[in-house]
Amino acid sequence: MKIINSEERVHILDSQSSVWSVINNIANTNNQEDAFYVCDIGDIVRKHKIWKAKLPRVEPHYAVKCNDNLTVLEVLTALGTGFDCASKGEINKVLSLGVDPSNIIFANPAKPASHIRHAATVGVSTMTFDNETELHKVKKLYPDAKMVIRIRCDATDAQCQLGMKFGCNPVTEAPELLRIARSLEINVVGVSFHVGSGCREPQVFSRAISAARDVFEYAKTLGYQFNLLDIGGGYPGDRGTSIDQIAEVINSALDDYFPDPSIQIIAEPGRFYVSSAYTLACNIHSIRNVIETDPVTGNTVNTHRMYYINDGVYGSFNCILYDHQVVVPQPLKEYPGVKYYPSSIWGPTCDGLDQVIENVVLPDMKIGDWLIFEDMGAYTLPVASPFNGFPIPKVHIVADESIWPSTNEDINSEYCLPSLPIRIEIPRCGNNTMIEEYVLDYVDIAHME
Ligand code: PLP
Repeated sequence: MKIINSEERVHILDSQSSVWSVINNIANTNNQEDAFYVCDIGDIVRKHKIWKAKLPRVEPHYAVKCNDNLTVLEVLTALGTGFDCASKGEINKVLSLGVDPSNIIFANPAKPASHIRHAATVGVSTMTFDNETELHKVKKLYPDAKMVIRIRCDATDAQCQLGMKFGCNPVTEAPELLRIARSLEINVVGVSFHVGSGCREPQVFSRAISAARDVFEYAKTLGYQFNLLDIGGGYPGDRGTSIDQIAEVINSALDDYFPDPSIQIIAEPGRFYVSSAYTLACNIHSIRNVIETDPVTGNTVNTHRMYYINDGVYGSFNCILYDHQVVVPQPLKEYPGVKYYPSSIWGPTCDGLDQVIENVVLPDMKIGDWLIFEDMGAYTLPVASPFNGFPIPKVHIVADESIWPSTNEDINSEYCLPSLPIRIEIPRCGNNTMIEEYVLDYVDIAHME
């Protein structure tokens, strides 16, 4: 293995190393103070294997909005997934990796005109809609588009509901929309839905697939021959979660309602692929001890510790506000024999809203100590801002040996990554534009020195 670039590398994990050991190495590097991520692309490859095993009929089209890091997109491109893009910008990013436009679905039912024009120019022809005005725009701007009607079917329990914004009623609205599409001679090719992100009710997929079948049948009466079912996102991706139950419901509903193998079934998973791949390390830069007086004894007691860390709700932890994510802090090192205190964790900005955790019991930690947050890959970095001048954490990429080809046999394996040139994005303080650096076709070994 050779080091192509000494500054930006994909760190290959051997059996002696792990994400946590890499974090330890980086945290203990001289003067390391900024918060940083470690992204394990091996975890993304593992997720893909799980997807292929559990949902063999369903072609994943990764939802770029969830985490648009170039390395993530390159890995998924290498694995052969399609992509769900929400805008012209996301389409361009995916196309720049050499992805064929036919592997992209423009899955935003309410698109600005210029974005539709762009889709027409670059040939991203599959797009969703859920309202009449969209049909008129498409008729004018991209009459050859292949349209997918998005219906609403909400999970009773989900981390983030989406139905209040998108999806027409499959019974009361879809038929009329399809009649209008027919009269405009628009090519409608299928049905999509999104049950809600972080779905906690597997059975909803059965209801949604059944409703989609009814829309397929109605479309037939208008002369349409639908050939695409898009079962959206909603699949959990944190450590300790599984898609087993959801997959069981989906597979059985597909057997019941869509037994015809010529119907293409796609999905738009986001958090499933990336959530557990990203681990965030934050540094404690300030501490306030809250002292209160005991009303009985009159003695002062240290009741609470306030820890200030260098990433907050304006940065990665925006996921607490926007994605209803529950984040769990874990001290990087062990604290044998140290007293524990009720504590709160705060972000670095001057806003009082910038609280990461209101109440948690932590050991007596010191300035310079590190707190680790796992499952931070979904809906974090793309939304983060450098508010107050605090930088967005840099991402260090690691991969385990098993996914990187070293022998010809490896190279022929379905899940081995080719030695693609990996690009790494470096977010800069005060500048939201990601700077792309073309680096390596891999590598370095096990540990950072
Ligand atoms: N597809 C669409 C249209 C979405 O809006 C979203 C998330 O908001 C996704 C897919 C990804 O959903 P998830 O991350 O729950 O898989």
